[in-house]
Amino acid sequence: MKKMTGKISSKRRNYLSFMFVPHRKGSVRTIRINNYRTTLLSITAFMLVALLILTGYTLSVVKQNKLLKAQHEQEIEKIMSEKAKLEEFISNQTQQLIENSELITEAVSNKSVTNQTVAQFKKEYEDMVVSYIDKNMTEIRSVSRGSSKEKTFKESLADLRALIDLLEKAKLKEDDINSQIAKKEKELNNYLDSLPTYWPIDSMATPTSGFEMRLHPIYKRHIHHNGIDIGDKVGSPIYAAGSGKVTLAGYNGGYGRCIIIDHGNGFKTVYGHLSSYSVKEGDWVKKGQQIGKMGNTGTSTGPHLHFEVRVNDVAVDPLQFLEKR
Ligand SMILES: [Zn+2]
Repeated sequence: MKKMTGKISSKRRNYLSFMFVPHRKGSVRTIRINNYRTTLLSITAFMLVALLILTGYTLSVVKQNKLLKAQHEQEIEKIMSEKAKLEEFISNQTQQLIENSELITEAVSNKSVTNQTVAQFKKEYEDMVVSYIDKNMTEIRSVSRGSSKEKTFKESLADLRALIDLLEKAKLKEDDINSQIAKKEKELNNYLDSLPTYWPIDSMATPTSGFEMRLHPIYKRHIHHNGIDIGDKVGSPIYAAGSGKVTLAGYNGGYGRCIIIDHGNGFKTVYGHLSSYSVKEGDWVKKGQQIGKMGNTGTSTGPHLHFEVRVNDVAVDPLQFLEKR
């Protein structure tokens, strides 16, 4: 079947007719539409509506993008504030570490061997913190903050990703540095524990004899007294001045019953004239642990503890180290 359209005559301008002409047999059929203008108007109206819907959809997409952009800007703001908190945390931590190392320096009053060792620890401690701040925080600071230039959505998004990436890296490094700091703190604490600072008997009485030249009460001649003598009753507990390993628990000439503890780092302590031992050679002792009892053995004129501190086997004044409780 052929489809034909067209205007029929000038008199029937308002009609639109479709004629169907069969090729072989049968009559010609005509379909006439009363008002084709109305039809054309309807089609135009339909297309306009479609256009409006499309425009509306486009506008909503644009609006959604704006919302997303605002949302991401908020997220960036949030991350920036997290970053500020992180910086504050690290700066507080640094301050604490530096204060700690100063305390350790203060705790040690010996001006020769010890200061050098502590200075070395302190330097390591501070270098570690400073290098951490330099490496990680400058990287984060390099990301522009509060730029006056209006950024596109994609630029903001790229910034956001870069920030998250940096923060993640910083977090990883932070975990690593925290374990390093914990390790260093443990080392410093062990070092502090090993230093002979614990007053070795319960009596806080001033020593009857100091670290000085004196007329020896038995030999009756002036010789240097290499420790301090602190008097109390026979049987008073004697404590380790610092943690370490017992290298002697036995009779030792003029010292009588004697204990020697090796604290490492060149430090040793000697406890003389004891009546008994509560540790044996090879034992590890803690600072403040009881090691024996006061006595009057060896070259002694009455119950007392003879206490020595030796640095690299040279006797030094124990009062430089001991802290009264
Ligand atoms: Zn003495």
